[in-house]
Amino acid sequence: MAAGEQVSNIFDTILVLDFGSQYSHLITRRLREFNIYAEMLPCTQKISELGWTPKGIILSGGPYSVYAVDAPHVDHAIFDLNVPILGICYGMQELAWINGKQVGRGDKREYGPATLKVIDNSNPLFKGMNDSTVWMSHGDKLHGLPTGYKTIAVSDNSPYCGIVHETKAIYGIQFHPEVTHSTQGKTLLKNFAVELCHTKQNWTMENFIDTEINRIRNLVGPTAEVIGAVSGGVDSTVASKLMTEAIGDRFHAILVDNGVLRLNEAANVKKTLVEGLGINLDVVDASEEFLTKLKGVTDPEKKRKIIGNTFIHVFEREAEKIKPKDGKEIQFLLQGTLYPDVIESISFKGPSQTIKTHHNVGGLLENMKLKLIEPLRELFKDEVRHLGELLGIPHDLVWRHPFPGPGIAIRVLGEVTKEQVEIARKADNIYIEEIKKAGLYNQISQAFACLLPVKSVGVMGDQRTYDQVIALRAIETTDFMTADWFPFEHSFLKKVASRIVNEVDGVARVTYDITSKPPATVEWE
Ligand code: GLN
Repeated sequence: MAAGEQVSNIFDTILVLDFGSQYSHLITRRLREFNIYAEMLPCTQKISELGWTPKGIILSGGPYSVYAVDAPHVDHAIFDLNVPILGICYGMQELAWINGKQVGRGDKREYGPATLKVIDNSNPLFKGMNDSTVWMSHGDKLHGLPTGYKTIAVSDNSPYCGIVHETKAIYGIQFHPEVTHSTQGKTLLKNFAVELCHTKQNWTMENFIDTEINRIRNLVGPTAEVIGAVSGGVDSTVASKLMTEAIGDRFHAILVDNGVLRLNEAANVKKTLVEGLGINLDVVDASEEFLTKLKGVTDPEKKRKIIGNTFIHVFEREAEKIKPKDGKEIQFLLQGTLYPDVIESISFKGPSQTIKTHHNVGGLLENMKLKLIEPLRELFKDEVRHLGELLGIPHDLVWRHPFPGPGIAIRVLGEVTKEQVEIARKADNIYIEEIKKAGLYNQISQAFACLLPVKSVGVMGDQRTYDQVIALRAIETTDFMTADWFPFEHSFLKKVASRIVNEVDGVARVTYDITSKPPATVEWE
């Protein structure tokens, strides 16, 4: 767990139990939009081991059939908590299975839109709603009402589209309110949390700052010291600023200049973090060390490994130089983990559940005997950005595009040398500068220049040139799982191409990447 007392003990919390639906995390996301704190855990969670009491419980959808022998089932102790429960799709089928087993294969699968017809308008779950489009995604259905339940909504194919227990606040719905195709789904989720569970809508970043600073202080104690790596990106900067607010100079930030950062990056980060934000930061120039290790390496996976391992090595060496004032060793390692990574590692994937740990952090924790501190692990990216703005982090940094850990090393295709990095850096800097000038930076999710190790013939000032190629990439995406290329105006591309060829030595030609993801990835390597 993150720091000290859990957020779920401080804020009213809706517990989402995940049965493996691809939409489960959206339930949490939607509730957060209404300033309601919600946390997701696998459906196998034992209530006795929870450590906090939820204000309400939502059972998600899932790919299984409740009647199958190996189907996942919920801990029946949820019913002893006497809090409202909402079962969504598989979640409703699970409630029905527990109360009479009237669930089986439907005669037709239902995938896509359906019209919800509300029978009981006075029910708090439907407050402010009327008949509306809802999204269905199921093959199983209820063949009868569970014992003790009544119907409150129907659809053409689902006579038990919405059900409720006769005397308790236990609800089941066949459709998915968490997806945007369910036009009034958000209202339904809010109704469940506010009207039925009476959850306070106090989950704001303003409130989070205070509770988080207290949590960090309690966890670290009055004398212990904390170390963390910063990258110049929003997550590590926000995490570092929070630590500084909580424990001041007992937090030590380290920026490792690996020789493959963006143009002037180390100096810029130093200026912003030290002068602007008062963060206790050391910049370590290890660029020669990284570039020496990368010599002759062209395989992208090898490049990533070398950079990851060298980073651990350099970071440990620098960490040893720090001598905490209490005379002891550094005790904690800060990590800017966000909630989507947590969800990824805990979401229910059936018997062979995989847990992802971050390569670099895992190594550091073991070697240095550090304890992990993750102040952002409950937050989604937009919440981190909001928090960053509140903490006074410059707007440009808060809204910066993501940048890969191996940096420009995977944007210089082929061998990474100082000269090649310099070409890629300069081209990238011109490209981003023009994007910002054109007011397009915030419409684009990620943009960068890549250096292709291909030589191409050109002509400059009547002279034949034989130089390399820069590929420009810009994508639009909401989740980075799928992405499309950004449709720049021709005049924009013309301007960028001309500036790059004219201003960057070694480039004879510029191309624009018009491949979506899939089939291509965002980065070239
Ligand atoms: N697997 C179940 C079905 O097909 C539940 C589907 C779901 O939860 N979306 O009906």
